[in-house]
Amino acid sequence: MSTDPECIFCRIVAGSIPADIVHESPTTLAFRDLQPQAPVHVLVIPRSHYPNAGELARHEPATAAHLLDAAREIAESEGLLRGYRLVFNTGEQAHQTVFHVHLHLLGGRSMGWPPG
Ligand code: AMP
Repeated sequence: MSTDPECIFCRIVAGSIPADIVHESPTTLAFRDLQPQAPVHVLVIPRSHYPNAGELARHEPATAAHLLDAAREIAESEGLLRGYRLVFNTGEQAHQTVFHVHLHLLGGRSMGWPPG
């Protein structure tokens, strides 16, 4: 499994910094975003370190699918019956700030477009 000791999300996976964890599987972990942009804002991450969704899909395609399945399961457990948004920010111009791939799961309010 690929890991980076300098990466904040790798540290959450390792349990060395705390997070409000809402889901765990052998390949994925999900926790609430520290600065929520919606009533439900969860980050779903692979345990392995890859900088973005494309690199994860290239190296661990099954884990990429696990992220989507985990998001479905969390959306159900959070009661997001009316819908939710899934976002992978990739790169500087998309305002990606943490370079360990993470799937934003946002819900609990109406989602306009473009996102604010
Ligand atoms: P992005 O801009 O797509 O890279 O999103 C990174 C997200 O990680 C932001 O929404 C941050 O609020 C969130 N974040 C950063 N550090 C933590 C942390 N320790 N626990 C939970 N969320 C975090």
